[in-house]
Amino acid sequence: MFQGLNFEPVVLPETADALRKEVRAFLDEETGWFPNSDFNTGASAEFSQRLAKRGWVGMTWPKKYGGSERSFLERYVVTEELLAAGAPVAAHWIADRQSGPLLLKFGTEEQRQRFLPPITRGESFFSIGMSEPDTGSDLASIRTSAVKVDGGWLVNGSKIWTSGAHLNHYMVALVRTEPASENRHAGMSQLLIGFDDPNVTVRGIKNLAGESDFNQVFFDDVLVPDDQVIGEPGNGWVQVISELGYERSGPERFLSSFLVIQELLREVGSNPTDEQAALIGKLVAELVTLRRMSISVAGMLEEGKAPNTEAALIKELGNTFERIVPEIVRPVLPQDASAHFLATLNDAILHAPSFTLRGGTREILRGVIARGLGLR
Ligand SMILES: Cc1cc2nc3c(=O)[nH]c(=O)nc-3n(C[C@H](O)[C@H](O)[C@H](O)COP(=O)(O)OP(=O)(O)OC[C@H]3O[C@@H](n4cnc5c(N)ncnc54)[C@H](O)[C@@H]3O)c2cc1C
Repeated sequence: MFQGLNFEPVVLPETADALRKEVRAFLDEETGWFPNSDFNTGASAEFSQRLAKRGWVGMTWPKKYGGSERSFLERYVVTEELLAAGAPVAAHWIADRQSGPLLLKFGTEEQRQRFLPPITRGESFFSIGMSEPDTGSDLASIRTSAVKVDGGWLVNGSKIWTSGAHLNHYMVALVRTEPASENRHAGMSQLLIGFDDPNVTVRGIKNLAGESDFNQVFFDDVLVPDDQVIGEPGNGWVQVISELGYERSGPERFLSSFLVIQELLREVGSNPTDEQAALIGKLVAELVTLRRMSISVAGMLEEGKAPNTEAALIKELGNTFERIVPEIVRPVLPQDASAHFLATLNDAILHAPSFTLRGGTREILRGVIARGLGLR
């Protein structure tokens, strides 16, 4: 049966204005940091630590774990300002966005006390270990296995496209703890694996822009202690799905090319051609709409809801937008475009193909949306 989407209008709280000014003032002081507005590029532990000192890493988490007990909507304001400025947020991004909330939801008290405070200090960074060679979209077909042994689990296999594995401290790895059965989603678990384990090998993979942001990671008889299993063994699929609302709905899903728009506005100033003015109007209208949808989901997350269909829709529309921005801006380039503008555009062109792949491709998202709407 057809089920509707729910995007209730959400207004940012009054505290958001003051917070926004605070973040902007902080960013104004930080010069020379800003590579581009893609959350995945530009990792700086030092920058993450400066943010952490302000209470802006793990800011929604309980104070007893080092958090600031601010709302998801306040976190939204901080993340959108950071992205719009192109700040180097990649180091703490995954731990802050989803690994920490995962531990808050499914982790033991001991795990929360051990892993969360270092994240909020900007000292501990996490990677997502889902994709494997031959297994990206069809996540249920992963083959990395963990076999129960005395005191823990012995892990063998490989993960691929692991962003930041060469810089981070832990991976939350989805592994098979039981052989695959008719119920494809049964028998998977999430383990916390330290990159400092000598039986873990991290090998960089170059992207289109020639950078090594992601990696292939090999596990060769890695012993993961029992106290690094997240949640109940076998509950991995349910837990992974619960991360998706956090992973798919944020402003990082439509702001990755934001600096191109900003630089276009700077470049054309108050004298755009008709063509440029029409394009700017279209881009801004789409941005405003995506932002309202995304804030609405942040509001639902604040209420403890799991708006996975809405999050998938934002990611599908947002990724399509951020991917196409450099393509549609290029034909209206001013004749005398500055070197800075061309460098920003060039950078976006090289990174844009990844926007619609990472975190789930558009085809997969459309399937999720159709299922959420009761259409399949
Ligand atoms: C920059 C970047 C960073 C990444 N970081 C991480 C990370 O940190 N951790 C991690 O685990 N993964 C990461 N990934 C991997 C990403 O999640 C996968 O690339 C993505 O899920 C697609 O999987 P795949 O590459 O195996 O493609 P495939 O699954 O092989 O898909 C190939 C094509 O077939 C289409 N397709 C597949 N199945 C279907 C279907 N059922 N119906 C219709 N079309 C289909 C896909 O849409 C796609 O176009 C990253 C990827 C990128 C590009």
